[in-house]
Amino acid sequence: MIVQKYGGTSVGTIERIKAVARRVADSRAAGNEVVVVVSAMAGETNRLLKLAADLSPQPDARESDVLVATGEQVSVALLSMALLDLGVPARSFLGHQIRVCTDGVFGKARIKSIDAGPMLETVHGGGVAVVAGFQGVDEAHNITTLGRGGSDTSAVAMAAAVKADVCEIYTDVDGVYTTDPRICPNARKLARVSFDEMLELASLGAKVLQIRSVEFAKRYNVPVHVRSSFSDEPGTWVVEEDASMEEVLVTGVACDLNEAKITLLRVPDRPGLASKILTPIANAHIVVDMIIQNASEEGFTDLTFTVPRTDHQKALGMVQAVAHEIGARGVASDMSIAKVSVVGLGMRSHAGVAARMFDVLAREGINIQMISTSEIKVSIVIDAKYAELAVRVLHQALIEEGVRETQA
Ligand code: ASP
Ligand code: MG
Repeated sequence: MIVQKYGGTSVGTIERIKAVARRVADSRAAGNEVVVVVSAMAGETNRLLKLAADLSPQPDARESDVLVATGEQVSVALLSMALLDLGVPARSFLGHQIRVCTDGVFGKARIKSIDAGPMLETVHGGGVAVVAGFQGVDEAHNITTLGRGGSDTSAVAMAAAVKADVCEIYTDVDGVYTTDPRICPNARKLARVSFDEMLELASLGAKVLQIRSVEFAKRYNVPVHVRSSFSDEPGTWVVEEDASMEEVLVTGVACDLNEAKITLLRVPDRPGLASKILTPIANAHIVVDMIIQNASEEGFTDLTFTVPRTDHQKALGMVQAVAHEIGARGVASDMSIAKVSVVGLGMRSHAGVAARMFDVLAREGINIQMISTSEIKVSIVIDAKYAELAVRVLHQALIEEGVRETQA
């Protein structure tokens, strides 16, 4: 049994919907049981959101979900018609018809359970179940949506629910690359990547897969195959790790330009300091990424952290309020930073990647502002104007040339 998910561009026109129908029909003819999950036609979700924005400065969240969920209703109906015209017994299902039960957080709901029954009945009877992505219902039967790109998560959740062998994500790119090919022409398509690497490469993968779908795939161990809907070439498999994956030191280089940096200068170094600064930010649901506190000098220290750029103004205001209260000398902030991350399972068992990374950047005269590491990742913050250069030189040194020779 396979779950196939087709994104907005893959179902963007009537011709493309017919092409998807042929592909689904072929998979079924090859002996597979197929559940299909579709997104809204390309541009449709944006169009709907714009209608709401034009109407109201702050559209009601519940009604906004009622509105945007219609995009997927259109595409399941059209794809089912196309399949029926090919003689394939197809049936469309909206979120509420298979009880995609979510929490009640409109606009970014999380799936709690799914009733696989109607889908299984359809496919066991020789038909194809065509399911609307992106949508669900909460306990009070309100329509909810899962956040932009949420059909990926719908698809993986359907795959877990029907216990599919694979979840195929058909999209307009042919897989996940070692880095952004627009920045680095030598980027290669990865044949396989582990769930954990994919999660750490979030900013690289985010264009391809909603990151929450990878968390879901990891939790339920659903193999995900990301591939192009315009070719038959295999794409990238996102799977549970195996021993051979550790042999590759560096799998990918990701670059994130969506963060901003805030520094509190010369804060009296006392217990409770970090908590006083960061708790209000957490309470405002702003996600703090990197945090650095300098070694204190004469009882004073600097504290620097990064937040999403979209939350920068809000966070800055909150920090300025606290700064005065705790006697800091001032607050500095920087919008033009880039976070560059090097990720690979092999880093778990091999030292030297971070050192090599710093060496490569030093040779280019790129100053490192912040560093953070996890078991399989090293991230640095640099001036945004060096972002592309950093990605290219790191890709060359760590992926094209490999770092093995430095281990000797
Ligand atoms: N249609 C929704 C969006 O554009 C969900 C998706 O495509 O995955 O974000
Ligand atoms: Mg998408």
